[in-house]
Amino acid sequence: MRGKTSPMVIVVGAGPVGLATALSLHKRGVPVEIVERDDRPGTHSNALALHPRSTAMLKEWGILGSLEADTLQIKNLVYCDLNGPRYNLDLTKIPGQESGLLVFGQDHLEAALIGPLEKANVPIHWNSRLSGLNQSEDKVEVHLEKLIESMSGYAMARLEWQVDREITARCRYLIGADGHFSMVRRGLGIDFPKVAPAQSFAVFEFKTDYAHNNEARIVYTDEGTNVMWPLPGGYCRWGFEIDESAAEKYSREKDRLFVQVGNQGYRTLESSMLNELLATRAPWFDGSIERFKWRMIVRFEKRLAPRFGRDRVWLAGDAGHVTGPVGMQSMNIGMKEGRELGNCVADCLEGNNETAVLEAYNSKREMEWRAIMGLSKHFSVRDETDSFLEHNVDKLFGSIPASINSLPQIADALGMDLVSV
Ligand SMILES: Cc1cc2nc3c(=O)[nH]c(=O)nc-3n(C[C@H](O)[C@H](O)[C@H](O)COP(=O)(O)OP(=O)(O)OC[C@H]3O[C@@H](n4cnc5c(N)ncnc54)[C@H](O)[C@@H]3O)c2cc1C
Repeated sequence: MRGKTSPMVIVVGAGPVGLATALSLHKRGVPVEIVERDDRPGTHSNALALHPRSTAMLKEWGILGSLEADTLQIKNLVYCDLNGPRYNLDLTKIPGQESGLLVFGQDHLEAALIGPLEKANVPIHWNSRLSGLNQSEDKVEVHLEKLIESMSGYAMARLEWQVDREITARCRYLIGADGHFSMVRRGLGIDFPKVAPAQSFAVFEFKTDYAHNNEARIVYTDEGTNVMWPLPGGYCRWGFEIDESAAEKYSREKDRLFVQVGNQGYRTLESSMLNELLATRAPWFDGSIERFKWRMIVRFEKRLAPRFGRDRVWLAGDAGHVTGPVGMQSMNIGMKEGRELGNCVADCLEGNNETAVLEAYNSKREMEWRAIMGLSKHFSVRDETDSFLEHNVDKLFGSIPASINSLPQIADALGMDLVSV
């Protein structure tokens, strides 16, 4: 960390949420540093679409500009079944959603957020793992392990990470944006209970000549929800919901440094599985299947922390919530709350009432995520609601790209009401 001067705030985790949080703190003039256990940014596209609000945030930060050429705009969400399209949701006609969704791989997003942080000399300490924390009335003591790579193994050499040295740093506030297995959350003793059953997806990203028409397709079949996202550069991603038991041996741990060498080293899915899944769930898909970028099974749990922090230590992003991927909510709402938390902490450092500001952050998170996860809100059908949507109303609620602010407008565009449950 910065020699003798402690940063006001330490953010744990250089994922999209940690980076957005640090940038918002920096924009408010707060000295901030990031610690990240990995040795570089993510190299995987994981979450791939930005909600209009996230796009606006990046624009406001002057980040999007030159990158826009590598993005793809999704204007329509087309809800389908086995036989093809059944309902078209034109996002550009929904108030607040006019810019549609911007498809933009998470790896590019992280690189785009790192650029201005580096330019502003905000330190990002790679290979630095948080191992514990203690908070007192006026500060947080943060225990870090500096990791180095070492070679081990006899017949087969392998690289391993070892603790080189331990460091204790101090800050006024600590923000945990350290993902679903958050050490910060565990350090606070905050639970992370399951609130709904997990969903697993077989995901394939491949080159295709499919004519996407700037639409993403969400396909409801007896097996669950399946989704097709067109990607920039002539690629697409298909995700097929699969039975839990087929996926339980795979961890949800994000492999940020995923590199596949040939066909070895990592479990991948057979291409025949893609053919079979397309034939049984989306036989109308007429795109070619060319070079695979990646293919794997990902398990998405649905968990929500009962609190988003306390006193001087607060959480944002997957550290506080995880949900299914179709609505792209984890990352987008996570970045929004990271920015909000950055502003709240900046307000506290400027002398605002700490308890009021941070407890308000906590209540908003609880309200938003309980709604998004269908624990406090749901759709109610009207007389005129499309029968296909009515039949799939439960699946639909988890597969719209909505935040708490856009839920009512999107419900209305779908011909439904948003009601409390
Ligand atoms: C294969 C895959 C596909 C996905 N697809 C989608 C999708 O389609 N839509 C969607 O919305 N979401 C998707 N997600 C989820 C999405 O990637 C996450 O919601 C998003 O990354 C959350 O951002 P975050 O910054 O909160 O956490 P993360 O991106 O997990 O970042 C947390 C960071 O903290 C670091 N860290 C963890 N512990 C420590 C520690 N002790 N010390 C220091 N650093 C630490 C980690 O290395 C990591 O860099 C997908 C995830 C995966 C794995």
